[in-house]
Amino acid sequence: MIRLEGLVKSFGDLKVLKGIDLVVQESEVVCLVGASGSGKSTLLRCLNFLEENNGGKIYIEGKAVDPKNDDLNKIREKVGMVFQHFNLFPHMTVLENVIEAPVQVKKVPKEQAIREAKELLLKVGLEEKEDVYPGKLSGGQKQRVAIARALAMKPDIMLFDEATSALDPELVEEVLRTMRGLAEEGMTMVVVTHEMNFAREVADTVVFLHDGNIIEKAPAEQFFTNPQQPQTQSFLQTAV
Ligand code: ATP
Ligand code: MG
Repeated sequence: MIRLEGLVKSFGDLKVLKGIDLVVQESEVVCLVGASGSGKSTLLRCLNFLEENNGGKIYIEGKAVDPKNDDLNKIREKVGMVFQHFNLFPHMTVLENVIEAPVQVKKVPKEQAIREAKELLLKVGLEEKEDVYPGKLSGGQKQRVAIARALAMKPDIMLFDEATSALDPELVEEVLRTMRGLAEEGMTMVVVTHEMNFAREVADTVVFLHDGNIIEKAPAEQFFTNPQQPQTQSFLQTAV
């Protein structure tokens, strides 16, 4: 479980997150939506400690993270992240990409890492591509490798930042299907997305971020059928 309490993040004079309170329960899927510049990516990056918050607290499994004294790399191992751009290692095959972190960072024996990587590639539908280099894959295939690579660290939670935004429209569905499968298996997920249909179908909770504040947070069905705040209503009118 992750709990944010009064999370504040500024870049110089620009206050980007203005006091975020949020709980993500185990196995919960939270979709984070909002206009460009509202702070969605910054919030995810704080959750993964790629950015250090200037105020407020982040609790993981009930314990407040202390960025000065805790081992952030150990915490990051438990948080998988998938970005808009896949950042695969171009000089490594698909299989090598997936085993890299478990072997190098977690010191998992190579044979075991390979076995687990093959299972993950099967899960994302790429078992036949293990020896291929990323340059030979479609965008959707690359993104599924990126998901398998994040899963190889056995994270407790997966963060997705517009994982389908850079894809050609016909490739979006295969990646969403993979994400939907993860959600059905009970993975805890925080998903920044513009895919409102996905949010409606898959999210337990939808959070609407507006200008650095959570303006509305509701179960998915309620969020889409009966949004309470005027900002949410006008966002949904343009987004859907
Ligand atoms: P989008 O939908 O376009 O991805 P977003 O909701 O993810 O938008 P963020 O990327 O979190 O928005 O950015 C929120 C604000 O913080 C923006 O005004 C952005 O310019 C600013 N910002 C983000 N990262 C930095 C940084 N490293 N340095 C300075 N300003 C930043
Ligand atoms: Mg963003």
